[in-house]
Amino acid sequence: MNLDFDQQHIWHPYTSAVSPLPCYPVEKADGVRIYLQTGEVLIDAMSSWWAAVHGYNHPHLNQAAHRQIDKMAHVMFGGLTHEPAISLCQTLLDMVPQGLNRVFLADSGSVAVEVAMKMALQYWACQGNPGKHKFISPRNGYHGDTFAAMSVCDPVNGMHSLFNDVLSKQIFTPAPQTRFGQVWNEDDIQPLNELLQRHHHEVAALILEPIVQGAGGMRIYHPEYLKRARQLCDEFNVLLIADEIATGFGRTGKLFACEHAGISPDILCLGKALTGGYMTLAATLCSEDVAVGVCQGQPGVFMHGPTYMGNPLACAVANASLEILQQGHWQTQVSQIERQLRAELLPLSNLSAVADTRVLGAIGVVECKTAVDVARLQRKFVSQGVWIRPFGKLVYIMPPYIINQDDLSQIIRAIASALAD
Ligand code: PMP
Repeated sequence: MNLDFDQQHIWHPYTSAVSPLPCYPVEKADGVRIYLQTGEVLIDAMSSWWAAVHGYNHPHLNQAAHRQIDKMAHVMFGGLTHEPAISLCQTLLDMVPQGLNRVFLADSGSVAVEVAMKMALQYWACQGNPGKHKFISPRNGYHGDTFAAMSVCDPVNGMHSLFNDVLSKQIFTPAPQTRFGQVWNEDDIQPLNELLQRHHHEVAALILEPIVQGAGGMRIYHPEYLKRARQLCDEFNVLLIADEIATGFGRTGKLFACEHAGISPDILCLGKALTGGYMTLAATLCSEDVAVGVCQGQPGVFMHGPTYMGNPLACAVANASLEILQQGHWQTQVSQIERQLRAELLPLSNLSAVADTRVLGAIGVVECKTAVDVARLQRKFVSQGVWIRPFGKLVYIMPPYIINQDDLSQIIRAIASALAD
């Protein structure tokens, strides 16, 4: 592998072009293991950023991809349709919280968020209410890297503060403070209540990550916040967009994090684990009311249509991934991971470098007191045979659901030893 070329010519995520972080060359991946060209074998703690929930090189997903590619890899979705997309959308509508009835297939999580925001804007414009064109979002949120998505990410500690001046001005409410499992504090919802009272006439939607705020801080909050947010949206005639791109498909211990609060959003964004980590595909689902509302008046259609919309290959693999989830083993797997994380990862809060630890479902978070040295820590993790990608103060893990106890223990021991140094 020509790693010099990689360093000199290829962008990697969130990396400097002039002094890039080290990049480890991967030969193959199988189950929960990533095999480096240099011979090291790493236990994967990241599921390739929430996606590879069934592990790598899965026979059922491979078979689905092989079968589909022999029929067609892709055809345009404008004016044509196909079985992989139809099956996928049927399965999704059966799985997701009640009340969602239409599926827009998008090509990445950020695009699914763009589509959701555009739907909300077009919905109000078509109701003769174009003044409702802003979004409310809790601080510490993260919704993607495209421009509309960036505008609703945390404006201060988010990754996009550089662009604040050119982003659409949105309205931010304090992040939920009551943690999952704590006693609910009624004060927690008041700022959102007050902002909606003041601004509802100009707000199209509240957009949030249900229960777990991911890349904006890995914060895990009380379901009552979500329940009350839903009620406030109804009261103030504002749509609710739930971004379950990270939390969807079992990660938090429920199939969808909205289930912790027993609520349904008006618009739901899915991605990441949708294809079991095989390729990029996302979906924006909405209620019948939103879909019909968007298509009233002029232009009468929803103005979005990616070239690779409904890619059959991605849909076929997504169908195979959802079949595995529907067998239901994920529930036992995720609750076993959660139990083990509670027993072994939560005690790391005793380390002097650690400010806080938290766990929900198959997500474990260690928040350090200061930002970690990513390159150094990663080298240490690799030398201990695990793959973890920290950011800022956070060393967090969300392993594939198939991970066994010994492998998970090795990951946690590696974190403990790296942070003890
Ligand atoms: N929303 C959330 C909650 C996410 O975690 C992410 C990805 N980290 C996105 C949106 C954007 O998804 P993508 O990277 O596929 O564009």
